[in-house]
Order: sequence, then structure tokens, then C-alpha cells
Amino acid sequence: MAKRRLNKQQQFRIEKIQTEREKRAARKERAIDEQLEASELGVEQTGLVIAHYGQQLDVEALEGDRRGRVLRCYARANVGNLVTGDRVIWRPAADDTGIIVARQERQTLLQRPDNFGQLKPVAANIDHIILVIAPEPEPHDSLIDRYLVAAEITEIPAVILLNKTDLITPENAPALEKLLARYEAIGYPVVRTSALDAGSTGASDELEALVKGRTSVFVGQSGVGKSSIIQALLPDETLRVGGLSLSTGKGTHTTTTARLFHLVTGGDLIDSPGIREFGLWHMTPREIEEGFREIRPLIGHCRFRNCRHQGEPGCAIEQAGADGRISEERMRSFRRILVDMAEQNSRGLSSS
Ligand code: GDP
Ligand code: ZN
Repeated sequence: MAKRRLNKQQQFRIEKIQTEREKRAARKERAIDEQLEASELGVEQTGLVIAHYGQQLDVEALEGDRRGRVLRCYARANVGNLVTGDRVIWRPAADDTGIIVARQERQTLLQRPDNFGQLKPVAANIDHIILVIAPEPEPHDSLIDRYLVAAEITEIPAVILLNKTDLITPENAPALEKLLARYEAIGYPVVRTSALDAGSTGASDELEALVKGRTSVFVGQSGVGKSSIIQALLPDETLRVGGLSLSTGKGTHTTTTARLFHLVTGGDLIDSPGIREFGLWHMTPREIEEGFREIRPLIGHCRFRNCRHQGEPGCAIEQAGADGRISEERMRSFRRILVDMAEQNSRGLSSS
């Protein structure tokens, strides 16, 4: 076992940090209680979490005379974890600050594993995950499918957005059309746009219609045009938020703070470097099976309970592939992801 033992000094330090943290949390809670007791707080009202910085959150007032304003808030400990996109009940406090007293029920929750493999909430109430692909860099089935598997696991609907339509040529068109048709056939909506054409005129009609009145996130391989699309949707956005430059999409320092933006067209966008890389983490075979929507109904139908779908007799998934119920490309990509993940797993085990 390679796990290092902590020496006494390190242990002492960790304990000290922990105690400090607890003290700080207790002080914060006491300060909140004092304000509550002194009834210095205004009436309860609804708000929207715009961003999250450690203990503090930016909350946009959704009603009352502060409506549209963003206030720095603390949350009472009993509220539970909060993420960008959460709708909350809060009470105004002194100096344009506020106290969050409750969280409203979430419609959806985007989660991703942390470095220890524990699922951590990243953003709430996202209506759809927009997976961006482009003629260049050339799309890879297994990469697209990894994003889709992650979306399926999260239970947030995914849409495929083909960007850079200006780069479609007679040479690359047939393969692209075939690819898009394959996803449409299994129920993923496909939308096309060109962020470049948008330029100063704003986003294309198709893109506007896609994001209008909804909360969206954009995911996909680097270089497909996510930043450009976001720029087209947020022409006036000059903010550099949490180190995330909208023009480059690259963090000036490593942060995963998700931030919510209102789009001029109506609708919201939640973005962070972490969200853009959504889906690129380790997945278990079961998650991969469930994440292929045409394979999911076949789970448990193989002859052997521990079937790995690699040529075992009575494999329901291979049978479906042979019958054409699963496309050749999706079948190949399913196997590829299973193998990649298994390799990643064995590498992970041998190196620790
Ligand atoms: P990201 O890594 O997904 O955020 O991609 P970027 O937005 O940084 O775009 C990568 C490159 O593609 C940049 O050079 C963009 O100018 C270019 N690009 C983005 N959208 C389009 C488009 O619709 N058409 C063309 N031709 N290029 C685009
Ligand atoms: Zn099988």
C-alpha cells in the first residue's frame, strides 16, 4: 500500500487547521444568530445563487425593491450545501449583504467526482447540457459518447450543437451528416450554428432559440468553439469571473467556481472550467451501460450476470448490435469506453 503515513507533526497541523475551521464556522453562525435575534434582518424573499466563493455566495434578489441586485450572502449551516443555480430564501442584512435561510427544491443537479472520486454538486437547475462539436477538431465518437454518458447519469437532457457550420465542405459533410443522423435516431436533438458568423450581429437564430428561457451549460472538446459561442450570447460581458476569461475560456488561476450569467436573449448560462470538462472522468462499467440510452434497457438480459459483452454467449447487447438495434459506431464506442476505463483502472491501481 502506497498511502503515506502522516507523521505526528503533520497530524498536529491538520488537526489545528480543522479546529480553526470549526471555530470560524461557529463564529460565523453566532454572528448570523445575533443578527437574526436582533431582528435586524429584512423579510424572507427568493433569490438565485449566481456564484459561490468558499463560505460566501453571490445571490441575486428575485423580488422586492432589491430585485436584480446581487448581494453577498452567508448561509445558515442548516441550509445544507448550495451551488450556483440554486434558488434560495434569504433575508437582507446590513450593508447590502444577506443571510440565506433555506434552499428551494432542485429540479436538476449537475455533479462531478472530486479528486477522491466522491460526487460533488457543481450547479443546480440546469435544463440541458449542450454538447458542442465541430467539423474541426474532428469529432470522435467515443469522446462524444463519454459526454453523453455523463449527461445520462446526471439525468439532464443533452443536445448536440454542431458549431462552425461555415467549415462544412463537400468532403467532410457526408461523415458529419451521418454522425448527426445517428444521434438524432436515438433521440438527441441536433442544432447547428456558426459562432464566427454571429460576429457583431449576435448569436444565430437557431442558437438563440436553443438557449432562450432555459438554463444551459456548454461542454465539449477544447477548440470546438465554446468560448466563441458564449461570447456571441454575452456580447456585453466584460467580466473576468473567478479567473475565467470569457474570451479565452482559460483560467488565470485554477478555480472551478461556476458562475451564472443572464443572456440578453432571455435564459441563463452557467459556466466554469470544470463544467466545460464535464464527463471526462472515470466511469464504472455499470455507469457506461446505463449511459448508452439504447443499451440501458438491455441491462440484466445477458445470459451471464457478470457478462462483459466481449463475445460471451447469450450477450443481449451483442445480439442487439448484430440485429442493428444498436448502431455499429455506438457499439464500437461502447466497447472502447469500457476498455479505456478498465485500462485506466488497472493503471491507477498499479501506480498507487
Ligand atoms: P473552445 O476551446 O471550445 O472554447 O473554443 P474557442 O471558442 O476558443 O474556439 C476555438 C477556435 O475556433 C478559435 O480560433 C475560434 O475563433 C474558432 N471558431 C469558433 N467558432 C467558430 C466558427 O463558428 N467557425 C469558425 N470557422 N471558427 C470558429
Ligand atoms: Zn453481455
